[in-house]
Amino acid sequence: MQQPSGSGAGKAPEDDDGGGRKGSVDDDATSGNPYAGLVSRLRAAWLSGKTRPMEYRVAQLEALGRFLDEKKQEILEATKLDMGKPSFEAEFSEIILCKNELHETLNNLSRWMKDEHVGKNSVTRWDSAFIRKDPYGVVLIIAPWNYPVNLLLGPLVGAIAAGNCVIIKPSEMTKNTERLVAEALPRYLDKDCFAVVTAGVQETTRLLENKFDYIFFTGSPSVGRIIMTAAAKHLTPVTLELGGKNPCYVSDTCDVQNVARRVAWGRFFNAGQTCIAPDYVLCSLEMQEKLLLALSKTVADFYGSSPQKSPDFGRIAGEKHFQRLQDLLCSGQVVIGGETDEKERYIAPTVLADVHPSDPIMQEEIFGPILPIVPVANMDEAIDFINSRERPLVVYAFSSNDKVVNQVLERTSSGGFCGNDTLMHVTLTSLPFGGIGSSGLGMYHGKFTFDTFSHHRACLHRYMGRETFNTLRYPPYTQQKLGMVRAASEVKRKGACTLL
Ligand code: NAD
Repeated sequence: MQQPSGSGAGKAPEDDDGGGRKGSVDDDATSGNPYAGLVSRLRAAWLSGKTRPMEYRVAQLEALGRFLDEKKQEILEATKLDMGKPSFEAEFSEIILCKNELHETLNNLSRWMKDEHVGKNSVTRWDSAFIRKDPYGVVLIIAPWNYPVNLLLGPLVGAIAAGNCVIIKPSEMTKNTERLVAEALPRYLDKDCFAVVTAGVQETTRLLENKFDYIFFTGSPSVGRIIMTAAAKHLTPVTLELGGKNPCYVSDTCDVQNVARRVAWGRFFNAGQTCIAPDYVLCSLEMQEKLLLALSKTVADFYGSSPQKSPDFGRIAGEKHFQRLQDLLCSGQVVIGGETDEKERYIAPTVLADVHPSDPIMQEEIFGPILPIVPVANMDEAIDFINSRERPLVVYAFSSNDKVVNQVLERTSSGGFCGNDTLMHVTLTSLPFGGIGSSGLGMYHGKFTFDTFSHHRACLHRYMGRETFNTLRYPPYTQQKLGMVRAASEVKRKGACTLL
């Protein structure tokens, strides 16, 4: 078994005696757990109130920004070693998008943190009613391997901004990035409040036995269920950022070459290992023919005649995924690509035509550089196809007719939607990002991340005077008192006709 390894709190969790923590039902239940000491140390730091002042949060966020700036080169190198990530793609998806989240947060934090004053009725007119954005406490962030920096540190931005203490657990699959984060990040952040735990499945299972106040998980739907089950034992709220198969409908009226470029970029970026990549195309047989020609030209334009030699095309992150993807190539007909090289874990940018819904590639999330095209008769059939499956993280629709794009939006359900492009909706910090149904639960990005990690505490601070008004609600009760209480507190239906 892989040993539970280093934490940002300085000591390995198993060396920690958890000194100074008070006994409780939860502590008893987790005694002997290798991470109990770490969690309880972070809880003590949170209870001390250290993370609450805005100046503290800003200082930690700025330190996180310095980590991204000063370690940029090392991040690019680590992601290249882990999965041959082209540096353009790594800089854009791991650094720039993460820094956008950071800057958006720093630019708005004082406003987001403010109490939100809300409407009152006549009984509470002298009082103060407001929503306080309270930190949850000690939160756990578990990340996947495909964007090992952004999907770990993006949520961390909001968790710090909201005033929490945080344990982050990077994916063990991307070893070089995991090591870099575990060794370097704790040198930037306050060790009393933020820790990196490196852990495989067995250690993460032990980590999850501890009580957290919030768990933010990004990964597969099957592990999402495990996380939610572990969280349920402590009634811990969760955000689950999961995956699935994202449909991409291409209508007969569109600029085929532009569609091919936008679809190919979304599918082959990060060698297809993107949760929001277009997973399959739905289009008519006529459009399939045109699209295949345009996609073939696009692949040559993007990666040259030998994509394996292109510095702009990545590799599959692990042996298991490589084998799984290779097995999926038997679906439909390979029209573009199809070559593989096990030594490099290379799978060529591939397009499969005439794929049948019952083919193996249509039974699971592809998560690799393979694009199947499933022919459908028309838009209605495409919509029925989408609606008869699990709700995806995103639906894509391409058409030069806005009515078609709007119809697909109107008649389907998914975490997000992007018309006439792929992936680009995640570049906006103003849009919430998250799934629905089996593609996830909850949302983040920009202010949504801050809100995710904040408990919206409902507060009413009453005025101590004017007690005569309160006597109306005290026993002995009378019909007359009830009438006055109703009049003072009732929420009236707008436009309702009152005859009296
Ligand atoms: P995964 O679910 O295998 O692993 C994610 C994390 O969970 C890792 O840190 C891993 O160590 C941990 N983990 C794995 N098994 C565990 C277990 N039994 N108990 C506790 N922890 C466990 O996912 P992955 O292979 O790293 O990533 C690919 C999946 O993630 C795809 O389904 C993809 O769609 C999804 N994903 C979703 C988003 C999103 O934002 N919605 C982003 C990226 C990836």
